Amino acid sequence: MTQLRTCDQAVLDMNRRKFLQLLAFGGASLLTAPFLFPRLSSAGSTEAILLTCMDYRLTAEIEQYMEGRGLLHKFDHVVLAGASLGAVTAAHKSWNKTFWEHLDIAEQLHHIKEVIVMDHRDCGAYKVMLGPDHTKDPDTEKNTHAKQLHLLRNQIGKKHPTLKVETLLMGLDGKVEMIA
Ligand SMILES: [Zn+2]
Repeated sequence: MTQLRTCDQAVLDMNRRKFLQLLAFGGASLLTAPFLFPRLSSAGSTEAILLTCMDYRLTAEIEQYMEGRGLLHKFDHVVLAGASLGAVTAAHKSWNKTFWEHLDIAEQLHHIKEVIVMDHRDCGAYKVMLGPDHTKDPDTEKNTHAKQLHLLRNQIGKKHPTLKVETLLMGLDGKVEMIA
């Protein structure tokens, strides 16, 4: 989340600088300058919030997957180590809180309709928090992810009953399995 905050802050700082420059030069189209509110026009079309792990190996694959579904630039993105596990683990209560707060904001600001939770195979956070045995073979690994994904899906269903929830597992090759 530090990354997101840093990014948002950088955009704000940039916009503030441009705003002051415009004031200094008496820009006539100040109120309609698009870069001041770059996301405002598209905020209404945000479809979903996506929760993924922070693993750098899958950043491009995640973007490709979302693009393939026609959701590029139509989703908010929350990143927690372990994705679903990060949102439900008792080991990191502050991470749980971060997820719920971001979900609240996405719903209030962007009126999202869906939560997409995407775990991934060979997840280091799973190994650290649950131990290496949980990922010892593909089926055990899938079942371990399914357990956390179901837990989070149930919690979202209780707190946000109008939101659709999708639970996914991405392989290191970028292929995505739906976890029913
Ligand atoms: Zn991971």
